[in-house]
Amino acid sequence: MPELPEVETIRRDLLPHVVGRTVAGFRLSPGASRVIRDVDPEVFARRLIGRRIDDLTRRGKYLLFRLEGAQTPVYLAVHLRMTGSLLYRPPQADPADAYVRAVIALDDGSELRYADLRKLGQMWVVESPEEAVGALGPEPLDAAFTAAKLRETLSQRRAPIKSVLLDQRAIAGLGNIYTDEALFAARIHPQRLANTLTEADVNRLHRAIRRVLNDALGNRGSSFRDYVDAAGREGTHQLRVKVFRRTGQPCYVCGTEIARIKVGGRSTHFCPHCQPAPDTRDWSSRS
Ligand SMILES: [Zn+2]
Repeated sequence: MPELPEVETIRRDLLPHVVGRTVAGFRLSPGASRVIRDVDPEVFARRLIGRRIDDLTRRGKYLLFRLEGAQTPVYLAVHLRMTGSLLYRPPQADPADAYVRAVIALDDGSELRYADLRKLGQMWVVESPEEAVGALGPEPLDAAFTAAKLRETLSQRRAPIKSVLLDQRAIAGLGNIYTDEALFAARIHPQRLANTLTEADVNRLHRAIRRVLNDALGNRGSSFRDYVDAAGREGTHQLRVKVFRRTGQPCYVCGTEIARIKVGGRSTHFCPHCQPAPDTRDWSSRS
């Protein structure tokens, strides 16, 4: 699933192509009505056509196109979920892209093609971004996301740290790949309860989250399965991960085999030596 680095890569790719362009058309492929949920495709199209894209931002894993028109601006929000991609194709591009579910035609003849094998992604036209994105936690790469802010969030959560990092209301944009990578970089076991992390743990985790996300951005994201950028190319960060989907392979730091467990129903990869299990003596003394 595309996470913050993948969605941000798409945003940066699209930005110079779409800002200033006017929406000229919207087509939904047969059987793809699920992508815009219950909205009538003609109503959806009418809300977009004739408006000029004046900005493209990202919040968590959502892309937000700001569209100016005669009245107040609206936002086209896109969430790619598991297998979605948003492709930019210049005028007269080869028409063949697989699993295209919706096409936004722009006034210069170029197209934004929403492709999605499993049709789990979603598009909305809303008057404020919050209507689509809901209550999201802070952006981990923003200056406002400090170690103190992360400590405050974690101190209130008696749940495995992995689960808290995946909770978009706690922190926006992290998914299964980068939570595993950040916890490894911070040497924190994924099942430790968030509110038991020490100040030093949280400081390491804060640095690790930012470093892991920035490294992945530098490598244009991770393509384990379906992710491609706005030009349809794969990222390369999957070649650089330290633990994610490396089950049974040696840890790059200590040589111990990377283990896989389930945390909150999600596959979780970690090094049993570098990320020691929560101290069980601590548990018995508490009960
Ligand atoms: Zn190790």
